[in-house]
Amino acid sequence: MAIPGETTGPTDAALFRDAVERAIRYLHDLPDRPVFPREGATNRLSELDLSLPDGPTDPRLVLALLDEIGSPATVASPGGRYFGYVIGGSLPAALAAHWLATAWDQNAVFRATSPVSAFVEDVALRWILEVLTLPPDWRGGFVTGTTMGHVAGLAAARHAVLERQGWDVERDGLFGAPPIRIVTSAHAHATLFRAARLIGLGDGRVVRVPVDEQGRMIPTRLPELDASTILCAQAGNVDGGSFDPLPELVDAARASGAWIHLDAAFGLWARATPRHAQLLRGLEDVDSCAADLHKWLNVPYDNGVILVRGSAANSLRSALRMQGAYFPEEDARDRGRWTPDASRRARGVDAWAALLSLGRSGLADLVERNCGFARRFAEGLASAGYSVLNDVVLNQVLVSFGSDTETQAVIEGIQADGTCWCSGTHWNGRAAMRISVCSWATTPDDVERSLESMLRIAERVRGGSITARGIDGRS
Ligand SMILES: *Cc1c(COP(=O)(O)O)cnc(C)c1O
Repeated sequence: MAIPGETTGPTDAALFRDAVERAIRYLHDLPDRPVFPREGATNRLSELDLSLPDGPTDPRLVLALLDEIGSPATVASPGGRYFGYVIGGSLPAALAAHWLATAWDQNAVFRATSPVSAFVEDVALRWILEVLTLPPDWRGGFVTGTTMGHVAGLAAARHAVLERQGWDVERDGLFGAPPIRIVTSAHAHATLFRAARLIGLGDGRVVRVPVDEQGRMIPTRLPELDASTILCAQAGNVDGGSFDPLPELVDAARASGAWIHLDAAFGLWARATPRHAQLLRGLEDVDSCAADLHKWLNVPYDNGVILVRGSAANSLRSALRMQGAYFPEEDARDRGRWTPDASRRARGVDAWAALLSLGRSGLADLVERNCGFARRFAEGLASAGYSVLNDVVLNQVLVSFGSDTETQAVIEGIQADGTCWCSGTHWNGRAAMRISVCSWATTPDDVERSLESMLRIAERVRGGSITARGIDGRS
């Protein structure tokens, strides 16, 4: 056991080298392990549940314990054959920059607390606007993910629609305020409703507009909008990847004075490619847009962005207002004035590294490659006789393997097999398996191996040798 202060501290090179070597080994082994950890590995997690010792533990032991017990119990989602939810990996440059910036341990709240963070985040934000061909007067900040992007965007919207009616919501709150209405699609993401609840707008008051068979909002079914409405559109349905018809929705919002907020959690990056940019026509006309960086930009968790148009910048600033006698004098580069957090890590550094390492062509190629893989999955499954339930417009595929019971059995079989990992959903009343392709690490070989395992397992289900656990009580 080490004496505290002797081997610990900022210059413990052996410890840090050990950490990096363990991380490298972990990443190296990812392709050869089951995508979801085996029960033996997750059972061992209880070995981390020690009684808190009275005295110190050697940092080398701390790290070894975490790696030896923790690493085998991780999900191989940074690898190339994880297609569950919408996750994405970490680009090497983004991961490496993240490690270095963790060593910096900067507080990115003010320029005064970290000039480098403020500067690099400014550049990253500018690059994001450039790859999206958005005007340079747009503003924004780095948040933990789309959920907090929604909170910030809806708070800005709340400020704007109430200010028009002479109500100062930051001072007086919502008690006695004129009512605000959120209008969104019946397929809006769960986090939008969470954000609505958090900022006091209530999810029960949200008006849900019907969607077509692809999950796109039907503009002719919009209720009457007005200047106290916040219209929330979606770019990239979390199941099928479809896009709400943004130009029509923007027109309806503009004509009525409503605020328009966009959930572009992963769909945002379609705009960075020649082939798919048209899916995001109208982006330049929304008031606010929340998106993830940890999904398709492939930076480590947790990372997202809130973007607002130039004329909406003041609403976001007002909504996030923060004063303190001990705060430094305000500086245009104070990024903490553009996010709901105060103290936080410099998330924009990871985005800066990802964008620099990819370049415009690399980003477009990452997105296009993943979309091509999604089409390959759809084609391979359809030609084997299974039903692809969505138009594969982006990176998401929904497939049915027959009855709901059979689809469920195939999903469970694939998850147990460990070659790849997919999750399930319900789409237009049918059970479906979701395939989400959004990692730089996925190769054509990963796609073929995964497709082979899906077809092999589906064939066994069709032949009756596997049945679903939860649904079919016999197995
Ligand atoms: C993932 C996702 C969200 C939520 O993003 P978090 O990063 O989990 O906060 C919101 N909307 C859509 C469409 C998503 O895919």
